[in-house]
Amino acid sequence: MNKSEILSRLREDDPKRLKELWRLADETRRAHVGEAVHLRGLIEISNNCVRECGYCGLRAGHKTLKRYRMSAEEVLDCAHKAVSFGYGTVVMQAGEDYGITGPWLAEVVRRIKSATPLAVTLSMGERPEQDLALWKEAGADRYLLRFETSDPELYRLIHPSLPDRVSDRLAILRQLGALGYEVGSGVMIGIPGQTYDSLANDILLFAELDLDMIGVGPYISHPATPLGTVDMHERDARGTTGVPPVEWKRRIPPGDQAPNTELMCYKTVALTRLACPEANIPSTTALATLNKATGRELGLRRGANVVMPNLTPLQYRALYEIYPAKACIFEDALACHGCLKGRILSLGRELGSGPGGRVRH
Ligand code: SAM
Ligand code: SF4
Repeated sequence: MNKSEILSRLREDDPKRLKELWRLADETRRAHVGEAVHLRGLIEISNNCVRECGYCGLRAGHKTLKRYRMSAEEVLDCAHKAVSFGYGTVVMQAGEDYGITGPWLAEVVRRIKSATPLAVTLSMGERPEQDLALWKEAGADRYLLRFETSDPELYRLIHPSLPDRVSDRLAILRQLGALGYEVGSGVMIGIPGQTYDSLANDILLFAELDLDMIGVGPYISHPATPLGTVDMHERDARGTTGVPPVEWKRRIPPGDQAPNTELMCYKTVALTRLACPEANIPSTTALATLNKATGRELGLRRGANVVMPNLTPLQYRALYEIYPAKACIFEDALACHGCLKGRILSLGRELGSGPGGRVRH
C-alpha cells in the first residue's frame, strides 16, 4: 500500500468500502497468522513514573494519584495464574519507575523463566541500555515501547524529554532489536494535533521498522493531564500548561485532525494488518474501553490476533489509571480469563497455545 491509498482508506466512510477493508484485513490475518488468538497476561507492576507525558494519568505531575509497586512475590503469583489459565506469555508493564531497579527486575524475570514455560514481555519505558541488556540476559523475550506518533513536532509537544536525556524512542527500538528482543511498538489514535497524514505515516513506519508486535488504540482524554484540558473542537477557549493551544490551532487546518473514534481505530488496525501481515496485533483494552460490549471482538475480526487479559491484583487495578473508565478494572484475573476466552470462542477462533511469538514466512 502506498501513502495515498492508506490516506484514502483512513478517510473512508462508505459502508460498502469499509466492509471490503474489514474483509481484506481478516483474510490477511488468517493467511499469515492463522486462527489462533494469543493470550498475553498483563501484569501492571507499578504505577510510579518519572515522566510528564501530556496524555497519561500516571505522569509524575499527577500528585493526587496513589502510587503502588508490586512485590516480587505478587508478580510471581500472577505468573503462576497465567500458567494455570493456559497463557503462553506474561507482559509486565509499568510507568518509567527507577524504583524498579535493573537487577531487581532481572531476578524476577529469571524466577519466572525458571519456574514456568512463559514467554516474558516487558514494557518499562525508556530505560537505559544497560537495564535492557540485563533483562535480556535474564531471559526476557520481548519489549513493547510505542513511538506514540511519527510526527516529531507533535511527539515533542506531548512527550517531554527528561532534563538529562532526549527522548528518542525510535533509537531505543533499534537498540532492542540489536539486543535480540522481539520488538513491539505502536501509536495512539486521535491525539489532539495528530493529522490523518501523520497517522498514515505511522502505518508506513510500522512496516519500515518491521515490527514484531504493533499496538494501536484510541487516545482517551484524562482530565488530570495537560492534554486532557485540550478540547479538540474549541482549542482556543481553554488554556493549559505544556501544550499551548494556540500552537495546536496553527498546526492543524480544519478537517485534518484524526478523530479518536472507535471507527478510526478499526481502520487503523485493519490497515496495520495489511501493511504488516505477520505482526502480532492486539485488540487493545483502550478499544474495549470505547465499546465494552463488542470492541474487542470487532478488533479481532478486523485484523487483530492477540488479547491481553489483565492479571493485575484487583487492589491495584483502578490505580493504573492511564485514562478514566478503563475496561476490566473491577473483574479479577479469573473473571477476565473467562470473559475473554468466551469472546474468542464465540468468534469461531482458537485459543493460542505456547509462546505465540512472531512467525516469519
Ligand atoms: N511507561 C511505559 C511507556 O510509556 O511505554 C509503559 C506504560 S504506558 C501507560 C503504555 C501506553 O499507554 C503508552 O505507550 C501510551 O500509548 C498509552 N497511553 C497513555 N496514556 C493514554 C491515554 N490517555 N489514552 C490512550 N492510551 C494512553
Ligand atoms: Fe509514564 Fe508511560 Fe504514562 Fe508516559 S505513558 S507518563 S512514560 S506511564
